[in-house]
Amino acid sequence: MTTFAGKLLRIDLSSSTSKVEKIPEQYFGDFISARGLAAKYLFDELKPDIDPLGPKNKLILSVGVLAGTGLQGFSKWTVTTKSPLTGTIFRSVVGGNFGAWMKHAGYDLIIIQGSAKNLVTVHVDKSGVHFSSAKEFSGIDPRRLQKLLKEKYGRHTESACIGAAGENLVRYASITSGERTASRGGVGTVMGAKNLKAISINVPVKKHIPFDNPRFQELVKQQISILKDHPRKKNMTTMGTPYITTVLDKMGIIPVKNFQEGSIPGIDKISGKKFYDLKMAKAGCYMCMTRCGGMRNVIEGPFGGTQIDGPEYESIYAFGPLLGITDSAFITDANAFCDFYGLDVISTGVSIAFACELFEKGIISASDTNGLDLTWGNKNAIFSLIELIAKMEGIGALLGQGVKRAAEKLGGAAGSYAMEIKGLELAGYDPRGVKGYGLSMATSNIGGSHMYGRPREELSGIVDPFTETDKGLSIAQVQKEQAIDDSLIACTFGNSGLSYEMYVEYLTAATGIKAFESTDNLFKIGERIVCIERCFNVREGFRRKDDSLPKRMTTEPLRKAGPSTGQMIRNLDKLLDEYYEALGYGKNGVPKPGKLKELGLDGAIKNLS
Ligand code: SF4
Repeated sequence: MTTFAGKLLRIDLSSSTSKVEKIPEQYFGDFISARGLAAKYLFDELKPDIDPLGPKNKLILSVGVLAGTGLQGFSKWTVTTKSPLTGTIFRSVVGGNFGAWMKHAGYDLIIIQGSAKNLVTVHVDKSGVHFSSAKEFSGIDPRRLQKLLKEKYGRHTESACIGAAGENLVRYASITSGERTASRGGVGTVMGAKNLKAISINVPVKKHIPFDNPRFQELVKQQISILKDHPRKKNMTTMGTPYITTVLDKMGIIPVKNFQEGSIPGIDKISGKKFYDLKMAKAGCYMCMTRCGGMRNVIEGPFGGTQIDGPEYESIYAFGPLLGITDSAFITDANAFCDFYGLDVISTGVSIAFACELFEKGIISASDTNGLDLTWGNKNAIFSLIELIAKMEGIGALLGQGVKRAAEKLGGAAGSYAMEIKGLELAGYDPRGVKGYGLSMATSNIGGSHMYGRPREELSGIVDPFTETDKGLSIAQVQKEQAIDDSLIACTFGNSGLSYEMYVEYLTAATGIKAFESTDNLFKIGERIVCIERCFNVREGFRRKDDSLPKRMTTEPLRKAGPSTGQMIRNLDKLLDEYYEALGYGKNGVPKPGKLKELGLDGAIKNLS
C-alpha cells in the first residue's frame, strides 16, 4: 500500500496512441514525485538542442505522492517541458482539481509527446484514452471549453486547456485548469505547438491507501488542527496573496514603470484590504482548507459581467504599478482578459511595460505600435496590446515572443529595458532591494522566477536584505527546499505551520520509502533535483554568463523606493561564487564530477562531456 500510483501514461499525439508504463520505485526515493520525477524523465528522454516547439519536445504533467489524500494543500500538480521562452528546463506549478484526477486515474505522470496534424483533444476515462478532433473548439477560451468538455464527458470531468494564445504560439501562453493556470514559461505554447487544445479526465474518485494508514490519518488530523488556528493560514484565507502588495511597496521593491522605481503613490487603492472588500466568494484548490483564492467581479472585456478567481499579487503588480496604474477594477479586468486568451499575466504585463518604456525613451513611436499611444497608464492601449499579443498581430507579434527576443530584434538600446533572466520576464520583486532573492532569480534553472527559491527570512527582514555577503549558502538551501516543496507537492501558500520534519513523517507514513526517513536525506533529494535541472541546462549550453540579472539591476540605483532607494546589485560575481561553492559547482556554473557522483547523477557526467 502506498499513495503513489507507480505508473505513467504516455500519449503520442503523432500516432494517436497511448501506453501505460511502470515507474521504477527507486525514482520516487531519488526524486520524490511531481517536479523532481518529471525533471528526471525530461532529462533522460530529451536530446539536447531540440526545438521546444517541435514534435521532439515533451510535455510532462505530474502530481505529488501526497495528492488525493486527506492532507491539506498537497494536491497541486506541475507541468514540465523545455521552455520556448527560455530554452531551459521549465516547471510550472498549478492548482485546481486536475492533479487529483490524474491520481484517481492511476497515474503519477502523463507524458505527452509528438504532435497532432490538426487540433485535437484527448480524453481519459475508465475505458482508456480517446483522441478527438478539436476543430469546433479552435479559438475558444479555456473557461468555456472546460464547460463544453463537462457537457460532453460528464460533470465530473476535469481538464487542462489552452486558449487562443497557445494556438497562436505566443511564447508565454498558459494552461488553464478550473480557475487556475500553469502560467509561466510557455507551457501552453508547447501544448499549442503539439496541436493539443485540451486533455480531460473523468474517472471515479479512488482512495489512496497509505503505507501506514493509522499513522497517516493521525498526521492528517494533526495538520488540520495546526492549520485551524494558524495566523498565516488565517491571513491567506482572508486576504490571499494580494496582502503582500503594501508590504512590498513599503519595502520599496514593488516594481513601478518597468522597474524604474520601487514604490507608488496610491498603493492603498490596490492593497490586500481593497481586494478583500471586492471579494465575492472564497476559492481554492482540491483538498485545501486555506482556500487562498477569491472570486471577484469583472467589469470590462469578454468576461465582463462574470467573476474570476483573482487577481493574485502577481497580476496586481503586472497590470498595476509596473504600468504606473493603481486601479483595482482595471487590474481585475486585465487579468480576466489574459485568462480569456490563455496568456501568462506576468510575461504579458512585463512585455507591455517594456513597450511603454521604449515609447517613453523614444526608441519606438506610434508608427511602430499600431498607432497606440503607449504613455504610462493608458488603459485602453493596454487592452488593445493584450489582444494584439494574443493574436500575434502588429506589435503583438513582436511582444508575443517575450522581451528578450523582442529586444534582440529591435537592437540598439532596447536590451537595457528588457526585464528578464534567461528569457523569463521578472515577477513583482525588485532584486536590488532583496539581494539574496536577486541571486536566487539569477541562478534559477527556469529563468527569472520568484518561485525557484524564496528567501522568507530576507523578505521578512530577519536577514539584512541589502548585504551582498553570505547569501550563497542560504539561497542554495531555499532552492533545495523549494525543490522538495514542488515535488511533494506542498503548496507555498498553504503550508502554514509545517516543517521538513513533518514532511519526513508524511512521506514515510504515505509510502514507506526509506530514502524519506530523515530531513538530511530530503535535502539531499532537493539538491539532486536542482542539480539534474542544472545538468539539463548545461547540456543545452547554459553557463555562468547566463546566471545574470537585467543590466538595470547592476548599473542603476533604485529610485523612489523608500528604504531601498539607492540600492543596486554591486557584486553579482561574489554572490555567484558563494552560491556555486555551496552547491559543489565550478566557477563556470557546471556541477563538478564529484558532486554528480555524490548525488547519484553519474550518468549526467557522460551526457555532459
Ligand atoms: S493555499 Fe491556495 S494555491 Fe495553495 S493549494 Fe490552497 S487554495 Fe490552492
